[in-house]
Amino acid sequence: MDPVDIVPLTRSLVDIDSTTGREGECGRWLADYLRGRGWTVLEQRVDETRFNVIATAAGVVGADAGRPGASVTFSTHFDCVPSFFPSRVEGDRLFGRGACDAKGILAAQVSAAEQLRRDGESRVGLVFVVGEERGSDGARVANEAARGAGARFLINGEPTDNRLGLATRGILRLKLRATGRAAHSSFPELGESAIDKLIDALIALRAIPLPVDPMLGQTHYTVGLIGGGVAPNVVSPSADAEVMFRTTSDAAEVRSAVAPLERIVAIEHVLEVPPVRLTTVPGFETAVFPYTTDIPFLSAWGEPLLFGPGSIHVAHTADEWVSIAELKAAASHYVTLARALLAQ
Ligand SMILES: [Zn+2]
Repeated sequence: MDPVDIVPLTRSLVDIDSTTGREGECGRWLADYLRGRGWTVLEQRVDETRFNVIATAAGVVGADAGRPGASVTFSTHFDCVPSFFPSRVEGDRLFGRGACDAKGILAAQVSAAEQLRRDGESRVGLVFVVGEERGSDGARVANEAARGAGARFLINGEPTDNRLGLATRGILRLKLRATGRAAHSSFPELGESAIDKLIDALIALRAIPLPVDPMLGQTHYTVGLIGGGVAPNVVSPSADAEVMFRTTSDAAEVRSAVAPLERIVAIEHVLEVPPVRLTTVPGFETAVFPYTTDIPFLSAWGEPLLFGPGSIHVAHTADEWVSIAELKAAASHYVTLARALLAQ
């Protein structure tokens, strides 16, 4: 089998619109492409139109208990954020939605896996999921396919500028909900302002010490959404704000730190993704990353590593691009990583 040419593969993937929710066509193309190169491919259904693409070189896919599957698995996602725009190449830069996050990464992983296979290594697998950009529904389903397959290491790809991740932050989303009593604003003493309570709570939040981790640093947060009130001349009966913490330790620590706010507002739990400590291999530049990935949902695929070409700073932009030289370098780094892990 010929070596994989990363640029045309990336462009073929980028040119199929796979904005989250519409990944079906891209998944079919990818599954056919891998079958054509001799991979055993499972199209793992996630909903009526969307599926993950899971492939092994060993001919064993999914929870086939008792049979050895891939012990090193490359993974990333093939859904993209909006808006779709097709590929183009200018010098060393490959532009297009998903070029950086994460179709270029996917192509580099396929290229690496193919090189390993050409060298006679059959203990490699591929897990390409849908839905990473909105709730990780693909990864949650993909976790089921790993059970009993003997997976030891997961090399997950997200843009890390070709550095190995040491750790990623988690997420805790909380909704602060204030309740008041409506009144005509000419008699504010007859009402109770929910907006005032919410403001008090948000100001109090600023003074609350949040957990600090030696590796990941200070927990920080964003008040990303705020709403409330009914009209300019009505004392507000209700108000709420959604606060997103980027956690560095167990989210329970944040929850107990903010618990005193419950004297003013109700606190609702919206979503939690834990921070992750990653496995590393000597000889690579390393860094910590403030974002979360699919890794917490792919826990059955073995010890996680995080590595990928491209910068997170261009990932979701209107002019997304990736360096072609970096894509090619990533493929050989992926080979090195896999060999080091397979030798363990
Ligand atoms: Zn991504």
